[in-house]
Amino acid sequence: MTAVDLDQMDTDGGGDRPVPYRADGGYTVAGGMMLIGLLGFAGMLLGVLASVVSKWFYLIVLFPMAIGLGVGAVGAFGILRFRIRTPLLCGLAGFCGGVFAMLAMHYTDFRREMAFRGDHFTAQEIEVAARVEEIRNDPNASPEEKALGKELRGEPLVLKMLQVRTFWDYMDYAAERGVELKRTGRGRGLNLGHTGSYIYWGVEVLIVAGVAFGIMKSAAEDPFCAICESWKVEQEFPGVGGAPQELAAALSAGDLAKVQQHLAEEGATSLVNLWVCPNCEEDAPFEAGVKELVTNAKGEVSKKPRCLVTFPGESLAEVRGIVFPYAAAAAFESSEESAVGTSPTAPASEPESA
Ligand SMILES: [Zn+2]
Repeated sequence: MTAVDLDQMDTDGGGDRPVPYRADGGYTVAGGMMLIGLLGFAGMLLGVLASVVSKWFYLIVLFPMAIGLGVGAVGAFGILRFRIRTPLLCGLAGFCGGVFAMLAMHYTDFRREMAFRGDHFTAQEIEVAARVEEIRNDPNASPEEKALGKELRGEPLVLKMLQVRTFWDYMDYAAERGVELKRTGRGRGLNLGHTGSYIYWGVEVLIVAGVAFGIMKSAAEDPFCAICESWKVEQEFPGVGGAPQELAAALSAGDLAKVQQHLAEEGATSLVNLWVCPNCEEDAPFEAGVKELVTNAKGEVSKKPRCLVTFPGESLAEVRGIVFPYAAAAAFESSEESAVGTSPTAPASEPESA
């Protein structure tokens, strides 16, 4: 809907001054409604599925995370498909989708419990349970009713279950019964109690909704080409440069000479990524960013974004010309890792750094 604000870009400074990247916030009402419908459908399906599977086993934390991932993945697909670029709204939609999935799960439990009750208790028992206090003080109640009422008062949990009329009654009965944490298939576990169960469900909903929020927010943040109305494609050039923060600062300032210097440094702790429109190429603005390659104690490498800026299209050839040689050399080195010693070979086209 909204076009990229081209005035935002500094065209006085020789055309290569970048601006910090911001999602353009575009969407269509139809696309938004399709996304909400899709999320509702996915949330319901996942909630019902979780309820059915939980009859056999349920893994705390992991199940909510899986449901959140499911809602988020469907949402991200919708964002991509309907070209929506409103990160916060999309995140909130994911949050609501997650809450809806958990409501669907509990609601399916409720329906199943009610079906079970219908099969195992008589209409009279349910009737008496509903009027149990009334019958107790009613001199005209039949002895049969009074006896049954007395029996039910001795079984508070059964009485509460028989008194369930609405979904919320059911949730309170389920809390009274208490969520039980136990190892799969091993007898009785720790009962969280009435308040504990409510807290547990709250935490569970927050996990599901939080995961879906994060996935959808980040999906809507991806760079989009407003000229041809399509998503830009990300290309990563790993293992270049030694100082991620300095490299990011140079790139953000549009100081390409400095970028080139930092790329030439040893260390391979940075990654440069470019988001370019596959249709428009240099005819549309593009994004360039720096991610820091962080290696943890286990030797696993994660990418931590340091900056993402939007350049005018005419800078594309120059930026590519600077990044490509180092990226190609880094790729060559990692494939030759075992053969080559400790000193990395300089790329053939390495410029003289001042
Ligand atoms: Zn384009």
